[in-house]
Amino acid sequence: MAQYTPMIQQYLAIKRDYPDTFLFFRLGDFYELFFDDAIQASRELEITLTGREGGGDEKIPMCGVPHHSADNYIAELLKKGYKVAVCEQVEDPKSAKGVVRREVTKVITPGTMMEGKWLSDKENNYLVAVAEENGSFGVAACDMSTGEMYATSLLGRKEAALDEAMQYRPKELILAGWNSELKKDVPTSYIDKSDVDGLAVDGQYGALAKELDPAMRLGVNTLLHYIGATQKRSLAHMRLIKRYDAKQYLQMDGFSRRNLELTETIRDKSKKGSLLWLLDRTETAMGGRMLRRWIERPLVNKTELEARLDAVSHLKADLLLRTDLRTCLDQVYDLERLAGRISYGNANARDLIQLRLSLESVPELKRLLLSTNAPVLSELATGMDECADIVAFLQTALVEDPPVSVREGGLIRSGYDDYLDKLHTASREGKTWIAQLEQSEREATGIRSLKVGYNKVFGYYIEISRANLGNVPAGRYERKQTLANAERFITPELKEKESLILEAEEKLIELEYQLFVQIRNEVARHIPRLQELAERIAAIDVLQSFATVSDERGYVRPELVTSGECIINEGRHPVVEAVLEREKYVANDVEMNQKDRQILLITGPNMAGKSTYMRQVALLVVMAQIGCFVPAKQARLSLVDQIFTRIGAADDLVGGHSTFMVEMLETKHALQKATAQSLILLDEIGRGTSTYDGMALAQAVIEYIQQKIGAKTLFSTHYHELTGLEDALPGVVNVNARCEERAGKLLFLHKIEPGRADKSYGIHVAELAEMPNQVIERAREILSSLETGGHPAHDQQMSLETLWSAPVAAVREEPANLLSPDEERIMVELRELDLNQTTPMDA
Ligand code: ADP
Repeated sequence: MAQYTPMIQQYLAIKRDYPDTFLFFRLGDFYELFFDDAIQASRELEITLTGREGGGDEKIPMCGVPHHSADNYIAELLKKGYKVAVCEQVEDPKSAKGVVRREVTKVITPGTMMEGKWLSDKENNYLVAVAEENGSFGVAACDMSTGEMYATSLLGRKEAALDEAMQYRPKELILAGWNSELKKDVPTSYIDKSDVDGLAVDGQYGALAKELDPAMRLGVNTLLHYIGATQKRSLAHMRLIKRYDAKQYLQMDGFSRRNLELTETIRDKSKKGSLLWLLDRTETAMGGRMLRRWIERPLVNKTELEARLDAVSHLKADLLLRTDLRTCLDQVYDLERLAGRISYGNANARDLIQLRLSLESVPELKRLLLSTNAPVLSELATGMDECADIVAFLQTALVEDPPVSVREGGLIRSGYDDYLDKLHTASREGKTWIAQLEQSEREATGIRSLKVGYNKVFGYYIEISRANLGNVPAGRYERKQTLANAERFITPELKEKESLILEAEEKLIELEYQLFVQIRNEVARHIPRLQELAERIAAIDVLQSFATVSDERGYVRPELVTSGECIINEGRHPVVEAVLEREKYVANDVEMNQKDRQILLITGPNMAGKSTYMRQVALLVVMAQIGCFVPAKQARLSLVDQIFTRIGAADDLVGGHSTFMVEMLETKHALQKATAQSLILLDEIGRGTSTYDGMALAQAVIEYIQQKIGAKTLFSTHYHELTGLEDALPGVVNVNARCEERAGKLLFLHKIEPGRADKSYGIHVAELAEMPNQVIERAREILSSLETGGHPAHDQQMSLETLWSAPVAAVREEPANLLSPDEERIMVELRELDLNQTTPMDA
């Protein structure tokens, strides 16, 4: 340390407390980064790495960004999952002795972002803590930008706790008292429980924390501890904690959510193509965020759902009302984030104007809703606080079109503050007096070119051209400045007025700022009211969004029952239907119950529409359980408590396991947790191993579900042998995705029909994929020998691999005769294909 200059020593001392952040060290007009921070940041931000003499043997690596554009660079680093500590000069460099004192004034992390431009409007920015306490896990989540806060606790498994945490799609995770080897793809901090345990939480949370169970309390305290350590400022707008039990919602693990593409697609993780994308016709950012929350947490309570459905039903039927509502909602800004900025002291006058404009549209919103006579809508409306007092206050306090800056005056309306008005009057009167001076002095002296002017050095002056100097009455003016062609004069009275004006303006600006801060603080006192209102507006927005989509796409109100039935008449997959352009979607029926139609065994070739059908059932259930109408002619749906899916290709959820292992882990998970009220989708379980092996597993799983669980299950399979289960097990029913062979080609009808598929069309699909002719021919040969030889494998273990390698092995013996170089290349490519990672479309 000793060899470094005092400033670098100061830097190193501060950096020691913030080892896992990029330290932005204020130096004049720049933030500088040093040492490893500089090397890494220069790479991440693509800025030039330089060096600085710092007393050591070598130059210290350094890079910097101008302070006025720092936000963009910080945002860039946050997006990449890093944290940034901002270290400011906390004393005036002019009065400093030695090195200017510096302190970290805030730490910005991906989960604690507040500023609008770093956040996406329609997405919450959650910071989530998971704390372990005696085998229980407390999960607490908050969005600093909106003030929401949630907490729950669960017994037992780490995976479940992490799943719960991941439901928030957190931007950042904090784990207290435990460590997880599970891969999270989210920036994660680990905190020692002892740091949190003793934390004295005061104010509203203190009282509340006492009522939480120990795990939940530890979770909440972990959050507050972390926020306190990074933000170093008021948490006034954080709402009271909403406690919930995971069982209040339809539960799905992260894998199932992703699989059903609820909020993003599997392929490129984009919103476009997801259920959220389809249903999002919200007009406000708050509505957009609430829609996402609803989709991520479908309900299981019939009463709540019927209320939502009632509202959607009314709104769907009344296009005019909906149009008016949408126009009205369009006027509403992001109240939740405005509230956040107000309480943090970041809001400027324009933000308060946005708040006022938003509030001004509430009465109309209320009027529209009350005019419907729909109980749910009028209830929502009746409880809406118009905040008329806040509107009136802001109307009298602020001018209509204030500047961005709150430090330059021009914010406060006249009549709001007496003293301010007096200062304005003084300044105005002074200016008027000066404006009249020119005229009166011209008259008094008879000099028509006499001018009154102003400059920064001398202030106001009277200017008379050299030619007219002779006409100036003696003693009338004091000479101040001589120019080439003119002389400038002042009078004592002019100087007096001038200091009045300047003094008034200086005071004005300072007073305006103070008044503005008071106004903002006054509004901040009402934040809970604004948040409550925001929530109601958001709900209206989501409901009208459901109604809009349901109307435009011809959805129907689902009948919610508890009989265990799932009956869908002419159902459609909402997203596939929406993206299919010319081709029309083929509607399909579903009939399931808990007695004789509990498990649907779906057979049919690849690409026939099996997994689309399965996903469609799950999506309709989710849509019904968020209170939306569903794409069908008619639907009677039993409320489902959990959805499990095991569909499609390998997943990265659990690092280090083979695809087959992941498949087994997930299936196990479903078998352990599912109840008779659950919905299970299993797509080709067992295909990752040899045929008999896989078939045996598949059958055992079906038997277990049928005998022990009783969950409604859709099970697609390639193993035609399994279709025999229909006769052996009650409740198992065969359906198949119908295909027709025309002129040697396969035609997919996408129609799910009763009964088993009679034939495997694998070779046809290979043909459609334009597999080399030799391969197709050879496959046909092998197939027919297998078929004539009776059951595929009486005397040998015939696995999928051997089935595939048979023609390939034959080819390898005499490659020159059989394959052209091009074909050989294709064969190599085919051999290297990982079929578990290949979608039907890619194939
Ligand atoms: P499988 O699971 O049987 O291999 P998919 O469900 O993946 O087949 O369906 C393959 C493709 O067929 C889908 O990408 C979709 O575009 C189309 N498809 C599926 N079901 C239908 C349907 N009911 N109507 C129209 N097209 C469909």
